[in-house]
Amino acid sequence: MTDGARPLFAANWKMFKGPRETVAFVDEFAARYAARTDRRVAFFPPAISLEAFIRAAIGRPDLEVGVQDVHQEQDGAHTGAVSARMAAEAGAIWALAGHSERRREFGDDDAVVAAKTARILEAGLKPIVCIGETLVEREAGQLRNVLDRQIREVLLDVPGGGLTWAYEPVWAIGTGRTASPADAEEAHALVRRAIAAHGNDDLARSAVILYGGSVKPGNIEELMAAPGVDGVLVGGASLDPESFAAICEVELT
Ligand code: PEP
Repeated sequence: MTDGARPLFAANWKMFKGPRETVAFVDEFAARYAARTDRRVAFFPPAISLEAFIRAAIGRPDLEVGVQDVHQEQDGAHTGAVSARMAAEAGAIWALAGHSERRREFGDDDAVVAAKTARILEAGLKPIVCIGETLVEREAGQLRNVLDRQIREVLLDVPGGGLTWAYEPVWAIGTGRTASPADAEEAHALVRRAIAAHGNDDLARSAVILYGGSVKPGNIEELMAAPGVDGVLVGGASLDPESFAAICEVELT
């Protein structure tokens, strides 16, 4: 854990939960998880459910909220897209950039991810930049190179601080395969080294780096105990209030 930082437990709902289901989730989650000062919890519902989340969580300011993606431009003729400024106006405080599903399905390359990160910061939102290697890249011994390239591209556009990173090995997302704590420790150390190389030592020391990829109640404790892991980004297991509450309640060592 980065000194002084509170671990972050983040829920990426992907294309699940419209406004009604969102309200039902918040009600049940809030009943199961009491606010705690030693950790942060953030949710990434679909953009169409953002307002419903905010209304449902009105008495729970500890439950933070963000959007899963923004467009790389401030505004314009981009049918279906949401800008970072609009997300901020609607009450988001976080935004993801570069999730592997965006990279794979929508062609978000490193330059687009860097531009999105810049828009997110300009809008006053807190970005979580997702990075990670595919299985082919890992097996070809490219882990270090891939992380280095993804981080370099973002830091070229956004040299200052304020970024949270999520190391999400693509082969572990939604597959039930989880990186071992040792894998996570190794990758997080590589991330920190790349931030130092393309930014500076202070940036690397203070960087918040989440792990993501098939996190569940059964493996959260060992992953959070891995050196360099500052929190988690959770997909599938965050859709159920009981399992996400169990993840957020993990004993921190
Ligand atoms: C994710 O979507 O960021 C993710 C980590 O998904 P899952 O937990 O389902 O692997």
